[in-house]
Parts: sequence; structure tokens; C-alpha cells
Amino acid sequence: MKVLLAGYNVDADIIETLKEKADWDRDNVTPETLSASYARISRDPRDVSVLRQVASAEVDGARKSNERIIFGFGHHSVAEHAVFNLDIIGLSRLAVEEVQRARLASYTEKSQRYITLEGDYFTPEEFRGEPIEREFRETVAFQNKTYSALYEALKKHLFVKHAETVKTPLGERTVDGWAKEDARYVVSLATLSQMGMTANARTLENMLRRFRSSRLPEVRELADGIFSIVGNFTPSIIQFTEPNAYDTMRRDDIREMSGELNLAAAGDGHAGNDSVSLISCTPDADAVICAAVVFQYSGQSYRECLDAVMNMNDGEKRRIIKTALSKREFFNSVDRTFETIDFTYELTVSASNYAQLKRHRMSTQIVQDYDPALGFTVPPSITEVNMEVPFREAMDRSAETYARIKEAYPDLKNYILTNAHRRRVVLKLNARELYHLVSLREDEHAQWDIRETAAEMNALARNAAPLACMMLCGKNSFSRLRDEVFG
Ligand SMILES: Cc1cc2nc3c(=O)[nH]c(=O)nc-3n(C[C@H](O)[C@H](O)[C@H](O)COP(=O)(O)OP(=O)(O)OC[C@H]3O[C@@H](n4cnc5c(N)ncnc54)[C@H](O)[C@@H]3O)c2cc1C
Repeated sequence: MKVLLAGYNVDADIIETLKEKADWDRDNVTPETLSASYARISRDPRDVSVLRQVASAEVDGARKSNERIIFGFGHHSVAEHAVFNLDIIGLSRLAVEEVQRARLASYTEKSQRYITLEGDYFTPEEFRGEPIEREFRETVAFQNKTYSALYEALKKHLFVKHAETVKTPLGERTVDGWAKEDARYVVSLATLSQMGMTANARTLENMLRRFRSSRLPEVRELADGIFSIVGNFTPSIIQFTEPNAYDTMRRDDIREMSGELNLAAAGDGHAGNDSVSLISCTPDADAVICAAVVFQYSGQSYRECLDAVMNMNDGEKRRIIKTALSKREFFNSVDRTFETIDFTYELTVSASNYAQLKRHRMSTQIVQDYDPALGFTVPPSITEVNMEVPFREAMDRSAETYARIKEAYPDLKNYILTNAHRRRVVLKLNARELYHLVSLREDEHAQWDIRETAAEMNALARNAAPLACMMLCGKNSFSRLRDEVFG
């Protein structure tokens, strides 16, 4: 056996320096050659390291072969071997939401919990010179002024309340972070952020098409920025970047049709504004997991395993699931048999909560637009420091400006909403991902808003599938629960 290093990502500035210092044909420096050589593995018996050398020596040939294999044969996965790291600086939080919808990519973003906000925000070009520009800027200025006042009041209060924590190493920073994390509920979704993003060429191609069909000009501009970097030096693997009617018109068609359906009249009058409700769970969820666990080594068909499990009593099923979960440490994923059952929740969450929720890529999230009619989330600490009045005043002003923007620029209305405003989300995830989400988000280090959501999701899931969820907990409770369950 041989294992060779075929490539790795290094800082682009280093690559540029190396290119300048070496007497290279600069066109050679492209990840397309990796895709091309790997694509040839399936048909060429030579060592892949030789195929790589051939591709690097003949970049034009590598590009032609990529085009034939990726776009001719439809073998798109070879584009995944070309990976890019992109710095994205000065993008609004609203636009960040659109970017981070892509599952098969990695993101690390500026945290509004750990960094003091300086009041930087995005102003849509469409507003410039128009009467709305002034109102937009004044409202954002008011939100940001309120942020500073909340931050100061919360800091003062929390430093006294958590005096013991403040004395511990890093305690001061932690408590300061708590003040920021609650003060930021008042700032707008136009607030600027930055992130590092890692994505392969296939993901980037999908992103570019989606971004170019966005209703936000800011996101369309981002697509051009990304394409000008990656599209130019990887032309053979990033090709389908223009949106078609399916990308651009689908949402309008669905909106129009939904409007015609008179859904409110057909419903049962339940507003669906509960913070968390469980809409559905796989029937006989505990039995389904048990059947999947025993199926692996039984030599029986899955149907036979399920029939057998359905006739077992609770104690027997408990034994199966305990065996599957025993010896697990908090950092181990529960095994894949837990992917055989699904939970579908409806959540009404603040933008701040959603910003964290959306990062759980291994789930299905269907979102509605933000809607001030769903109210807003007031962090309890803001009530504690008697700052609810200025907070509510900022919300009222935001809602007024929102209404005015909505009239003239409906696509841009959400920029003025804040981290406290809410949206509904349908969240479907299997039990394996639920274990992961709850482990991170019900943990003591998690932010309180998403921690409450995770705790409610946990309680509802336990009710529906008590055996499957017997070890569902935040990671700080893992040892205690393990002692309870396993003795
Ligand atoms: C306390 C706390 C603080 C945080 N602070 C920040 C912050 O400051 N900035 C910030 O940007 N984010 C922050 N996050 C978000 C965090 O980085 C994760 O994005 C988020 O928790 C989702 O977790 P995940 O990626 O493990 O989950 P999912 O995306 O749901 O993935 C589930 C699992 O699938 C696997 N997986 C998914 N995608 C990949 C992949 N591409 N490669 C390899 N394995 C993969 C991993 O095993 C992963 O655990 C914070 C999270 C917590 C809990």
C-alpha cells in the first residue's frame, strides 16, 4: 500500500509568492488538474500519481477531459476534489443566511457574542438618494445606540451578579460576552459580518446559481465576486452558474399558488407560534431503531427483525438500545441506526436563534420569511436591568421602517429587522443529528435562546421515542445521565 500527499490547501499569498519566485507556467497552478487526474482513475490503469503528473504537464488537456467527464458524462462529483477557501468580508447578516444554506461547505463567522459591534452596517444601493435612505440610516443608528446602552447596562449588572465567575480565569471575558450576546438582539440584520468559507467546486457552482437568483442584490454581487476569483482559474469545473427559470421563478409561482389556496380558512385556527412543537415522529420509533440495530448482525431480513421487535416488551427493547448506546463517550456520535427515525418540528425562533440553528447542516430546514407579526424575543436580562422600554422602542421603530421599506422595496425589507425578530422554521432531523444538536445546544456553554429551544425539542422527542432518546442531553449532563441509565 502507498499513501501519497496529492495536495493540500495553503494560504493564497504563499502560492502567489511561490509563483513569483519560481519560473513557472502560472496556468499550471490550478486544482483542476487534481479533478482531472482523479476523474481518469476509473478508466486509466496507471498510478494516480502518474495521472496527476500528466494532468499538471498538460493543463489544456486536463481541462478538456474535465469538461468531457463532468459535463458530458454527468460525473459531477470529480469537481469536489478542487477545494477553495474564501474570505468573505463585509457581508450583512441577512446575506450570510443565504450563503450558509449550502450544506456541503464549512463556515466560521464573526461572533456577535464575542466581538463588540462597532455599528457597521450594509445600506442597499437602491436606497441611496431616496427618501427611505434617511429613515433607514436613522433607524439603524437608533438600534445601534440602544445596543451600546444595553451593553453598558448589562455589563454593569452582570459583573455584579456573577462576581464569582468574574474572578475566575477568563471569567471577565465570559461575563462581558454574556452582556454582548443579549445586547445584540437589538441590532439589525444589515449589520456587517465576516466569515471564512471552505467549499469545493461543485458546491460553489450550485452556490453561484442560487446566489445569482437571489432577491438580494447584495447576494448577487457576492456571486460575481466569487466567480471572478474561482471561475477564471477553474473554468473546466465551474460551468453551470447562470440561474434558469426553475431557480428564479419557482418561489414566485409557489407564492402565487399559496395565496390562492386560502390556507387560513382550511386550518384549525392554530396560529403555530409556539416556540417549539413536534409535528411528527416516525411511527413506532423505538421499535424501528431496535430493528435496525439487530438487523446488522442477525442474518434476517429487516422486515423479520421489525416483526420480532414489535412483539417484544419494553424491557427487551430497552436492552437493545442500551447495548447500542453503551460505552459511548460524549464526543462519540450515536450510530447510524439512529438515522432510521425522523422528528419534524415547527419552531418560531428569533433571528439570533436561527443564526445558530442554520449551522446544523445535517438537517432539513424549511424557513418562512421574518415577520414582525410573530413578535420579538426580549432577552430576560434586558428586563432584569429595566431596559425593556428602550428595547421595545427600538423594535417599534424597526417595525415602522420595515413597513415603509416593504411598500417600495419588498425584497429589501428584512435588512431593518433585528436579531430579536422571529420567523417560523420547519426542522426535520433524524435521531442521530438530534443527539448531536442537543449535545451542543442544550449544553451549559450554549447561548440561552437556542439552549431553550434544544431543551424543548429534547422533551418532545423523549415523549415520542423514550427509548431512542434515553441518552439525549447537553454534553455537560452526559456523565450524570450515563450513571442514571447504565448505573
Ligand atoms: C458554544 C458554541 C459556540 C460557537 N461559536 C461559533 C463562532 O464563534 N463562529 C462560528 O462560525 N460558529 C460558531 N459555532 C457553530 C459551530 O462551529 C458549528 O457550526 C455548529 O455548532 C454546528 O455544528 P456541526 O458543524 O458539528 O453540525 P452539523 O453541521 O449539523 O454537522 C453534524 C456532523 O456532521 C459532520 N459534518 C458535517 N459537515 C461536515 C464537513 N463539511 N466536514 C466534516 N464533517 C462534517 C460532523 O461530524 C458534524 O459534527 C459555535 C457553536 C457552539 C456550540
